[in-house]
Order: sequence, then structure tokens, then C-alpha cells
Amino acid sequence: MKRVRPLDYIPDPTSMLAMNVQKGLVHKIERFSLHDGPGIRTLIVMKGCPLRCHWCSSPYTQNPNPEILYIRSRCKGCGQCLETCPQKAITRSGAPSQVQTKRVLCIGCGDCVEVCVNQARELSGRYYTPEELFREIEKDEAFYRRSGGGVTVGGGEPTLQAEFVGDFLSLCRSHFIHAAMETCAFTSWEKLASLLDSLDLVYMDLKHMDEERHSEWTGVSNRRILENIRKAARRNQVVLRIPVVPGFNNTVENISASARFAKKLGNNLLRLELLPYHPFGIHKYEELERSYTLDAVQPPADEHMANLRAMVRSFGIDCQIGG
Ligand code: SF4
Ligand code: SF4
Repeated sequence: MKRVRPLDYIPDPTSMLAMNVQKGLVHKIERFSLHDGPGIRTLIVMKGCPLRCHWCSSPYTQNPNPEILYIRSRCKGCGQCLETCPQKAITRSGAPSQVQTKRVLCIGCGDCVEVCVNQARELSGRYYTPEELFREIEKDEAFYRRSGGGVTVGGGEPTLQAEFVGDFLSLCRSHFIHAAMETCAFTSWEKLASLLDSLDLVYMDLKHMDEERHSEWTGVSNRRILENIRKAARRNQVVLRIPVVPGFNNTVENISASARFAKKLGNNLLRLELLPYHPFGIHKYEELERSYTLDAVQPPADEHMANLRAMVRSFGIDCQIGG
């Protein structure tokens, strides 16, 4: 489904821009990514996710609303944020934190971020129209052209904001920008299908083949996910991603069951990626004033990852470690 830009193509500034006033909530825009599709890419990290994976390395993206991050090490306890908050959501607290935010009261207005001269507070989540977001990614168009790259929409779960994402992807398509999406696949088929025609590549997460284990560690059943992966692979090129988490899904039994499932997807399965668990997201839980439950889990050993990769390859599936 790779599209080639015609030599005589001249973007029509009036064709797609200003077509929609709907806004989407974006956690952040990451430029020059090399891991989420071919070439140099801009990664759009959407807010909101229906899963609660215990190992999640981007908890900022779970909440579908704007939220405050608190960087404790920068806070001097000046109290400016307490006085400014219209919700009275911030209170003083004892060490090690200087202040604490009652998250149920916070409306994400960002006033406390503005007054904090120590940059101890940040706001996760900014609203964009599809056109505003497109203008942002368009700045890197020269890099996409030279590297064969493009845009990848991830999260969070992009299909939670399917209408907005669809409009944004239509803009990318009209400008012949390669578009990929990463999804947890826990969504209605209608929402997912509405985006597939605008995508050149779909990354789909496969967390566990056993329904009960999947529910215990993510909060949802895997049934709909497996069904959506099967259906999407009939229409689009798909890369399966398995986060390999010790104590959860790193057994030979589970990975071989995953490989058997993947094999049945046919020629649209480009490859299977095994993503070793890492604890790099722990500080993000601190910034959200949340606890992290997997502190004791260590990343899987290199040798074990190599064995799993060899086993997947024995099914005739292209497999790599990492994205
Ligand atoms: S304004 Fe900033 S530095 Fe002052 S108490 Fe609030 S978070 Fe801490
Ligand atoms: S974002 Fe607004 S409501 Fe939330 S803590 Fe800051 S000032 Fe208060």
C-alpha cells in the first residue's frame, strides 16, 4: 500500500485544512524517532488508554484528560502553586514532597504550571485541531522525504480519539506522508476499521495468549484484541509487538502460542517484535504521585530474549528484539 508522491504534486493549502474544528488531546510530539516505523518519524503520543498494564512505561498517557506532573526534585516549597490553584487541589505535605496534588480535584487548567518558576510542574496534554497537529508534523516533512519516514500515531490508545485521528491521518494521506499507528487493539472493530484505509502500517500489541492472565495484568480480556488483530491483518500490513515481561508473559509456552497465532495472520504480518521489559518509566509514576507495582522485576536476560527470538523464527516468522 506504499504511496508514491507524483512528481507534479503541489499541495493545495485549501483542500484539507480548516475542514474540522474537532480537537484531540495529545500528550506530546516526539520528533526524530527511529523505532516506530521506517525512516525518521514524528511520533504523536495521544492521551487516554483503556488498559492498565502493570508494566506501563508511559503512565502519563493512560488518563484521557490533561494532568499535572510534579517533579519533586525541583520543588522549593515556595507555595506559589497553592495560592494560584482555583480548585484548592494543592496542599502542603511532609518530606520528601513539598506539596501534594489532590488529583480528583484538579481540572488540568495549568495555572500552577505558569506560576512555578522552578519548573517543578508540567502539564501533560494539549489540545490540537487536526490542522494544528498537521502543521506541527509538516515541519519535519523534508526529513520524511529523505529518509522514507513519516508519522506514527501512538499513545495511549489512538482509537479512543478515532474521529480526530482519522481527520489527522486524512491530512497526512492527502500530502503523501507515510502514516503508521500503534494500537493496543482493545477497541471496537468499527473504530479501528475507520482508520485502516489511511494507514500504511499498523503496530498491534499482543500481550498474552491466555485470557485470564491478560485480564489480571492489563485489566481487560484479550478476546477483542485477538479478533481485531486477525481482521486488521486481512486488510493492512501489520507488525506485532510483544512486551516481554518477566513473571507475566515471558515463558516459552506463551511466546510459542503467540507465534502460532501470528503465523496464521498470513503475508500481511511483516514481523514480530519482542520488546524486553525495562523499568525506565518508574520516575513517571513518581511525577504522577502514583505507586509502581513492579519495582522488583528485572529486565529479561539477553540470552532468554535470544532464545525466544530463535523460537519465533523457527515458525518462519521474521522476528527481532526491540522496536
Ligand atoms: S510553585 Fe513550584 S516550587 Fe513552589 S511549591 Fe509549587 S511546585 Fe513547588
Ligand atoms: S492544573 Fe489547575 S486545578 Fe490542577 S493543580 Fe494546577 S492549578 Fe490546580
